[in-house]
Amino acid sequence: MQLQEKTNVLRLLAGGLLACLIAVGVSACEKPAEKKAQPRASQEEEAIPTGQLGRNVAPVHYDLDLTIDPRKARFSGHVTIAVNIASPTRRIWLHGRHLTVHEAAVVQNGRRIPASYDEVHPTGVARLDLAAEAAAGSARIEITYDAPFNEALEGLYKVVDGAEPYAFTQFEATSARLAFPGFDEPAFKVPFTITVTAPEDMTVITNTPETRAQPAGPGLVRHHFQETKPLPTYLIAFAVGHLDVVEGKPLPPTAVRDHAVPLRAIATRGKGARLAYVLAHTRPLVETLERYFGVAYPYAKLDLIAVPDFAAGAMENAGAITFREQLLLIDDNSPYQLKRAFKSVAAHELAHQWFGDLVTPKWWDDIWLNESFATWMGNKAVARAFPQDGFENAILNGALRVMAADELASARQIRQPIRSNHDIATAFDGITYQKGAAVLAMFESYLGEEAFRRGIQEHMKRFAHGVADVHDFLDSLAAGSGHPEVKEAFASFLFQPGVPLVVAERLCKAGAAPEVALAQRRFRPIGSQAPAKGLWQIPVCVRAKG
Ligand SMILES: [Zn+2]
Repeated sequence: MQLQEKTNVLRLLAGGLLACLIAVGVSACEKPAEKKAQPRASQEEEAIPTGQLGRNVAPVHYDLDLTIDPRKARFSGHVTIAVNIASPTRRIWLHGRHLTVHEAAVVQNGRRIPASYDEVHPTGVARLDLAAEAAAGSARIEITYDAPFNEALEGLYKVVDGAEPYAFTQFEATSARLAFPGFDEPAFKVPFTITVTAPEDMTVITNTPETRAQPAGPGLVRHHFQETKPLPTYLIAFAVGHLDVVEGKPLPPTAVRDHAVPLRAIATRGKGARLAYVLAHTRPLVETLERYFGVAYPYAKLDLIAVPDFAAGAMENAGAITFREQLLLIDDNSPYQLKRAFKSVAAHELAHQWFGDLVTPKWWDDIWLNESFATWMGNKAVARAFPQDGFENAILNGALRVMAADELASARQIRQPIRSNHDIATAFDGITYQKGAAVLAMFESYLGEEAFRRGIQEHMKRFAHGVADVHDFLDSLAAGSGHPEVKEAFASFLFQPGVPLVVAERLCKAGAAPEVALAQRRFRPIGSQAPAKGLWQIPVCVRAKG
């Protein structure tokens, strides 16, 4: 339990009493015992890394050379992955799904080692078996392949809009492997050099600005792009087609950024005229976020891309944010609620350019470090940038809504172990977004906004363009805020499910000073089978009258 005068998280009023507090027994929660993996059917099956890949072979750079013609049924690519090999091996595990591989090899010290490529698990785990052992040290994996455009709005997929074909992408969480072979895990965060060959009259967008284009055979142009900052595979994006590209006013330099950032909005042909509103309302959000973080917008350009068929609301691809097109196509006749929705979603995705893109979780069990933060920070940014739009209570409203799920016996904790690719999607839920955001707001309120911000800024500084997990974040928060006690309290909300119910009781004993006793238990609906136990370290403020 933490006592803090200024917190407004939970006010317990002890009317008419001079209050003192009786601490109730509180201890840090324990992580549940990890279940032992069930034995698999065969040795071969057991060896397949269906969760995290091993670390014996790790990428350091990608060269993606893709040919994307949305008029066709398939696309093709040649991928070169520079890797570090820790100890000699004849086998390399990586990811690739529904790819037809024509040639694979490992090149090391001028020697080319042919390899066979096999997709060995339906979640897209693949295996390279080398004809000879690769030594420890640097090497290149080279893979030539082709693949179908996806038909389920994931990976690299085709959209037909107004009878015209386009190609777009959605890679989070594990769908980059449908577009190219690689190490499709957030911890592998490295620079990409991208070239895309496309029909000569089509536009190609990816994460970085185009540097040059050259003819590449009849009717085709090869587009070269700046090398990216270090990125995980899930943040790479492409858009190809007869796109309307509308240049906005570049985002001018700010106190923390010494250069302008090119700003564009992009839609399918004929829709560009409806992008003026979003171009005019992006700058206040970026500037509010930069002021908060004290860190410049991290990427070389900012594109807002309207996608006609899109499974999510929006996706924070670094420098190339994709949106369901309804959120971006706004004109004079659009309802106020749509304009408000754009601001809210854009704030969330822009917050991700720092939380998620600049600093990336090591593994999906820390997806709350992306989504809780973008929900909390996005709301803070949009409420500040557009104070007239009534976003101040959004976090509280979300918290009250998600309690209905969190009180159930089946509730999951904010930081949930993820043991296989199958578990990843379950982590994108209201517990991660709304409860996580509310817990952040609670501890921000406990520490005070400035102290909490120093913790966030410390975290951005320590892990810029890198990866971090929950322990890294709690260390940053403790160090930056100067409140080491916050770690244990914060952890008590991350590593166990449920909503604590705090009960205050006024104790009046003859001849003794009046007291208030606080007790907590897990809140459970009537008849619930949820376990009653649970202890949280809860910021509490008690105010006494008289
Ligand atoms: Zn998000």
